[in-house]
Amino acid sequence: MKKYDIMSDKAQNFINPQRIEQTLRFAYFKAQDKDYLRATLHKANAMNGLNTEQATALLLNQDEEITEEIFSLAAKVKSAYYGNRIVLFAPLYLSNYCVNHCLYCPYHQQNKHIERHKMSQEEIKAEVIALQDMGHKRLALELGEDEQNNPLEYVLESIDTIYGIHHKAGAIRRVNVNIAATTIENYKRLHEAKIGTYILFQETYNKASYERLHPQGPKADYAYHTEAMDRAMQAGIEDVGLGVLFGLNSYAYEFAALLDHAAHLEKCYGAGPHTISVPRLRNADGINAKSYKNALPDDIFLKIIALLRLSVPYTGLIISTREPEAIRLKALELGISQISGGSKTSVGGYAKKEAPQNAQFEVADHRTLDEVVGWLMENGHIPSFCTACYGKGRQGEDFMEICKKRQIHNFCTPNALLTLAEYLNNYASPEVKAIGKAMFAKELSRMSASRQALLTKRLSKAEAGTVEFL
Ligand code: SAM
Repeated sequence: MKKYDIMSDKAQNFINPQRIEQTLRFAYFKAQDKDYLRATLHKANAMNGLNTEQATALLLNQDEEITEEIFSLAAKVKSAYYGNRIVLFAPLYLSNYCVNHCLYCPYHQQNKHIERHKMSQEEIKAEVIALQDMGHKRLALELGEDEQNNPLEYVLESIDTIYGIHHKAGAIRRVNVNIAATTIENYKRLHEAKIGTYILFQETYNKASYERLHPQGPKADYAYHTEAMDRAMQAGIEDVGLGVLFGLNSYAYEFAALLDHAAHLEKCYGAGPHTISVPRLRNADGINAKSYKNALPDDIFLKIIALLRLSVPYTGLIISTREPEAIRLKALELGISQISGGSKTSVGGYAKKEAPQNAQFEVADHRTLDEVVGWLMENGHIPSFCTACYGKGRQGEDFMEICKKRQIHNFCTPNALLTLAEYLNNYASPEVKAIGKAMFAKELSRMSASRQALLTKRLSKAEAGTVEFL
């Protein structure tokens, strides 16, 4: 039997099945103990996080009063760390060639009727220009795994192309990358290419489920996949993004393992995950999400988001357009800090009027970016296209330090407003512009005179598309 060892970079040690089972037994027992749950909430109120056992006990509790307290505390922590800012991004699918056999994904190699496409650099330019015309400044690159069709050289060339496109009021300022687990050498090259966050979803932490769901292909190697973030961080990538595909396996196991993974990264590399994503399984070509017995109900999904906020208060939480508007709205209050908007999950879906028939999965939020921006503001959130921390070198451990001291507000609100001004002036519809102007005035009036002066000085440049971040 392998022993749990948080400092080991071997999957079986830091995601240790015996420890997770033990955590679940403890949590089931403590979930009945209201005194313990109250004491845990009291601890969470200090806003320094919760450990895996504490958070899992809160997750498994069934008491409505405690659950209400979890939700209101999560909203409080969210506001303390992130204020009312919400960062926006879009996924960009470069190629859906894939040699893996992930049973839940329509890009699996055996799917012969899905249209396969790998974009040329010219096509990428057209996609990026379409995204820039919407107002996007931050992208997440998505690719299937295929050494022949999508080698790392292709990814690197595409990143270079994307950063090089200056169109009208600006450029893409942060390219995050979601590609399959790879070698330290390749992570070093991605780091040199100045990627933002390296994102890789674990899909499921349960080894037996993982192996059943990935029967063949390079992704079938559970340990290699699970140890990817260690290799990425050893290669110098400071910001990594974790995620579980909820619906594949029992949620309590995934939740406990996800927090153990975050704790492992923090302990070993001085910084936990920069972000955690919470994708839920969606219908797709040949995939019926409802047929999965572990489909995650909305109330537990929201509880997981709230508890992630309490457990890792300084980590960005991401929700995509897999979720409909109503769930996204609740999730924003409970802890989400980044959302995608106007997304297409097909290769070449932004530039073409008629979206290609190769979407990875059905999205549930079909609104345009402009509609999402207007909706955020109407609900009291500042839409932010900020990428300052990355540009200013506030990454990894340095970023976490600032975050933990809750000083990130000093930078983030003014920077968010500068990017909002840039968006409103260059991309917004007249209706959204009007909502934005009102929000802008309100936010400015909350600031000290010196902050206001600093911001006002940079404002006209931002409106013209040159944002000078603090
Ligand atoms: N090839 C990379 C890999 O293997 O990690 C990137 C994968 S893919 C483009 C991005 C993510 O989409 C996957 O990690 C998976 O979690 C998610 N995904 C796949 N099928 C899905 C479905 N039917 N519903 C929702 N999300 C899905």
